[in-house]
Amino acid sequence: MNYKKLVILTAPSGAGKTSITRYLMKVFPKLEFSVSAATRKPRVDEKDGKDYYFITPEEFQQKIRNKEFAEWEMVYEGKYYGTLKSELERIWGQNKIPVLDIDVQGAIHVKTQYPINTLSMFIEPPSINELKKRLESRGSETAESLQARINKSAYELTFKKHFENVIVNENFDVACGQAEAILKRFLDN
Ligand code: 5GP
Repeated sequence: MNYKKLVILTAPSGAGKTSITRYLMKVFPKLEFSVSAATRKPRVDEKDGKDYYFITPEEFQQKIRNKEFAEWEMVYEGKYYGTLKSELERIWGQNKIPVLDIDVQGAIHVKTQYPINTLSMFIEPPSINELKKRLESRGSETAESLQARINKSAYELTFKKHFENVIVNENFDVACGQAEAILKRFLDN
């Protein structure tokens, strides 16, 4: 029975969880990406409603007051991100399973809110040095935001013990294979 199952992929920023998420979504058509609300500016290739619901900090605050979020976090200084309950309901309403690509604190929060039928996977980067290289090659960060992301990643790594499934993303294909096997077991149950 797939009813109200939930999949969470989490990782320190730059560990490759978004690429693994994309791979899993191709393999399992039952999965649907849960579009988060966010207050940061869209990047050049990002679309409102597809990558994020880009909203203002005021709109975000209003949604917090209205208790519209399943979880929300200030992921970076002044930048809010959150999973809308309406987004999860929208996906479940289509008889699909939401996939949340969210930060570590948010993932822990969702796990406590939805303790049943939730699969969480923590993607671990091979090392902080490797992480730094990946973030630099992405080229989307200023020196300041790059350093903030690296500091945050080192801190987030300390939370991996909260997750039942930890996948080290040393080799992308191997990591995808591991995630696929874990997910298949969860979906078949
Ligand atoms: P980015 O700005 O690179 O798109 O995302 C920054 C971080 O925020 C990533 O780790 C991403 O997974 C996380 N994130 C995206 N959406 C949410 C959300 O709804 N809640 C939480 N807690 N984190 C999120």
